[in-house]
Amino acid sequence: MVPTAFLRSHDYRYLIKRWRSVARASGLVMRSFSQVGGYPVYFLRSRKLPQFGIIYISAGIHGDEPGGTEACITWAEQNSETLASLPLLIFPCLNPWGLINNSRNDDQRRDLNRMFQHDEIPVLRELKRLIQPLRFSLALMLHEDYDGHGVYIYEGRTGLESWGDALTSVARKFIATDPRPRIEKRVFRNGVFLRKIRLKLFEKIGLPEAAYLQLHHAERVFTIETPSEFAIDRRVAAQIAIINECVRRVHKTRSK
Ligand SMILES: [Zn+2]
Repeated sequence: MVPTAFLRSHDYRYLIKRWRSVARASGLVMRSFSQVGGYPVYFLRSRKLPQFGIIYISAGIHGDEPGGTEACITWAEQNSETLASLPLLIFPCLNPWGLINNSRNDDQRRDLNRMFQHDEIPVLRELKRLIQPLRFSLALMLHEDYDGHGVYIYEGRTGLESWGDALTSVARKFIATDPRPRIEKRVFRNGVFLRKIRLKLFEKIGLPEAAYLQLHHAERVFTIETPSEFAIDRRVAAQIAIINECVRRVHKTRSK
C-alpha cells in the first residue's frame, strides 16, 4: 500500500510542515530565502557549516517530478537523528509553484533549470549568493522523467573514479536501470552519462543547476532521474537508496 504521505506529494504546505519537524528533530537550521509564484522557498543547513566538504541536495526545481521532493523529505525523516553529524545544505523544493501546479516550469513559464546563467530570477540569484563561499564534496539533484524506462543518472565527469554504476546498482532493488542507449539525445552506458561541461552547448540550451555546480562549486555532481510513470513508493525508495549510498561514500572518503 502507498503510504498516505506520498498521496500528498503536491501539497507544499504539508511538505514544509514535515521539513519543520525534521529541522526540530535534527537541529538543522531552516530558513526561507526567496519566493516562486508567491510561495516561500526554503533551505536547511547544518548549524555549523564548514566551507569545504559540504553535501548539497536539491529537489523540486521541476514541479512535475514529485518523486524527488518526496524522496528528500522521507530520507531526512528516516535519518533525522544522524543529519546533525553531516555537513548539509538542502533545498527541499526550489519551485513550490510548480509542485503545487504539477508544472515543470515556474509561474512565468520558465524552466528554472535552464536559467542558471541569469541573475535576474530572484530564487536563482539568491541561491547563487547563498552558496557563493561554499564548496561541496557532493551535489545531488533529484529529478524524474515521464518518458523514463528506469533509473538513470547524469554524473559530472571528473578525474575521480565514477560512482554512477554503484548508484544505479543500489537503486535496482526498487527500479531497474533505464536500458535505453540514448536518452535526451545523449549516449548512456548502463544508465549513466558522464557529463563534460560544454559551455557552447549550455549557452544554447541554458545552464542547469548541475552544470553550474560542476563549474563553480562541487567535486562530484549527480542528477538522479526516476521514471515518473512508475509507482511513487518505488521511485522514492530508489532515490533514497542512492542518497544513502552517496552519503556513505562521502563519509568513507572523509574519514580516510
Ligand atoms: Zn527534472
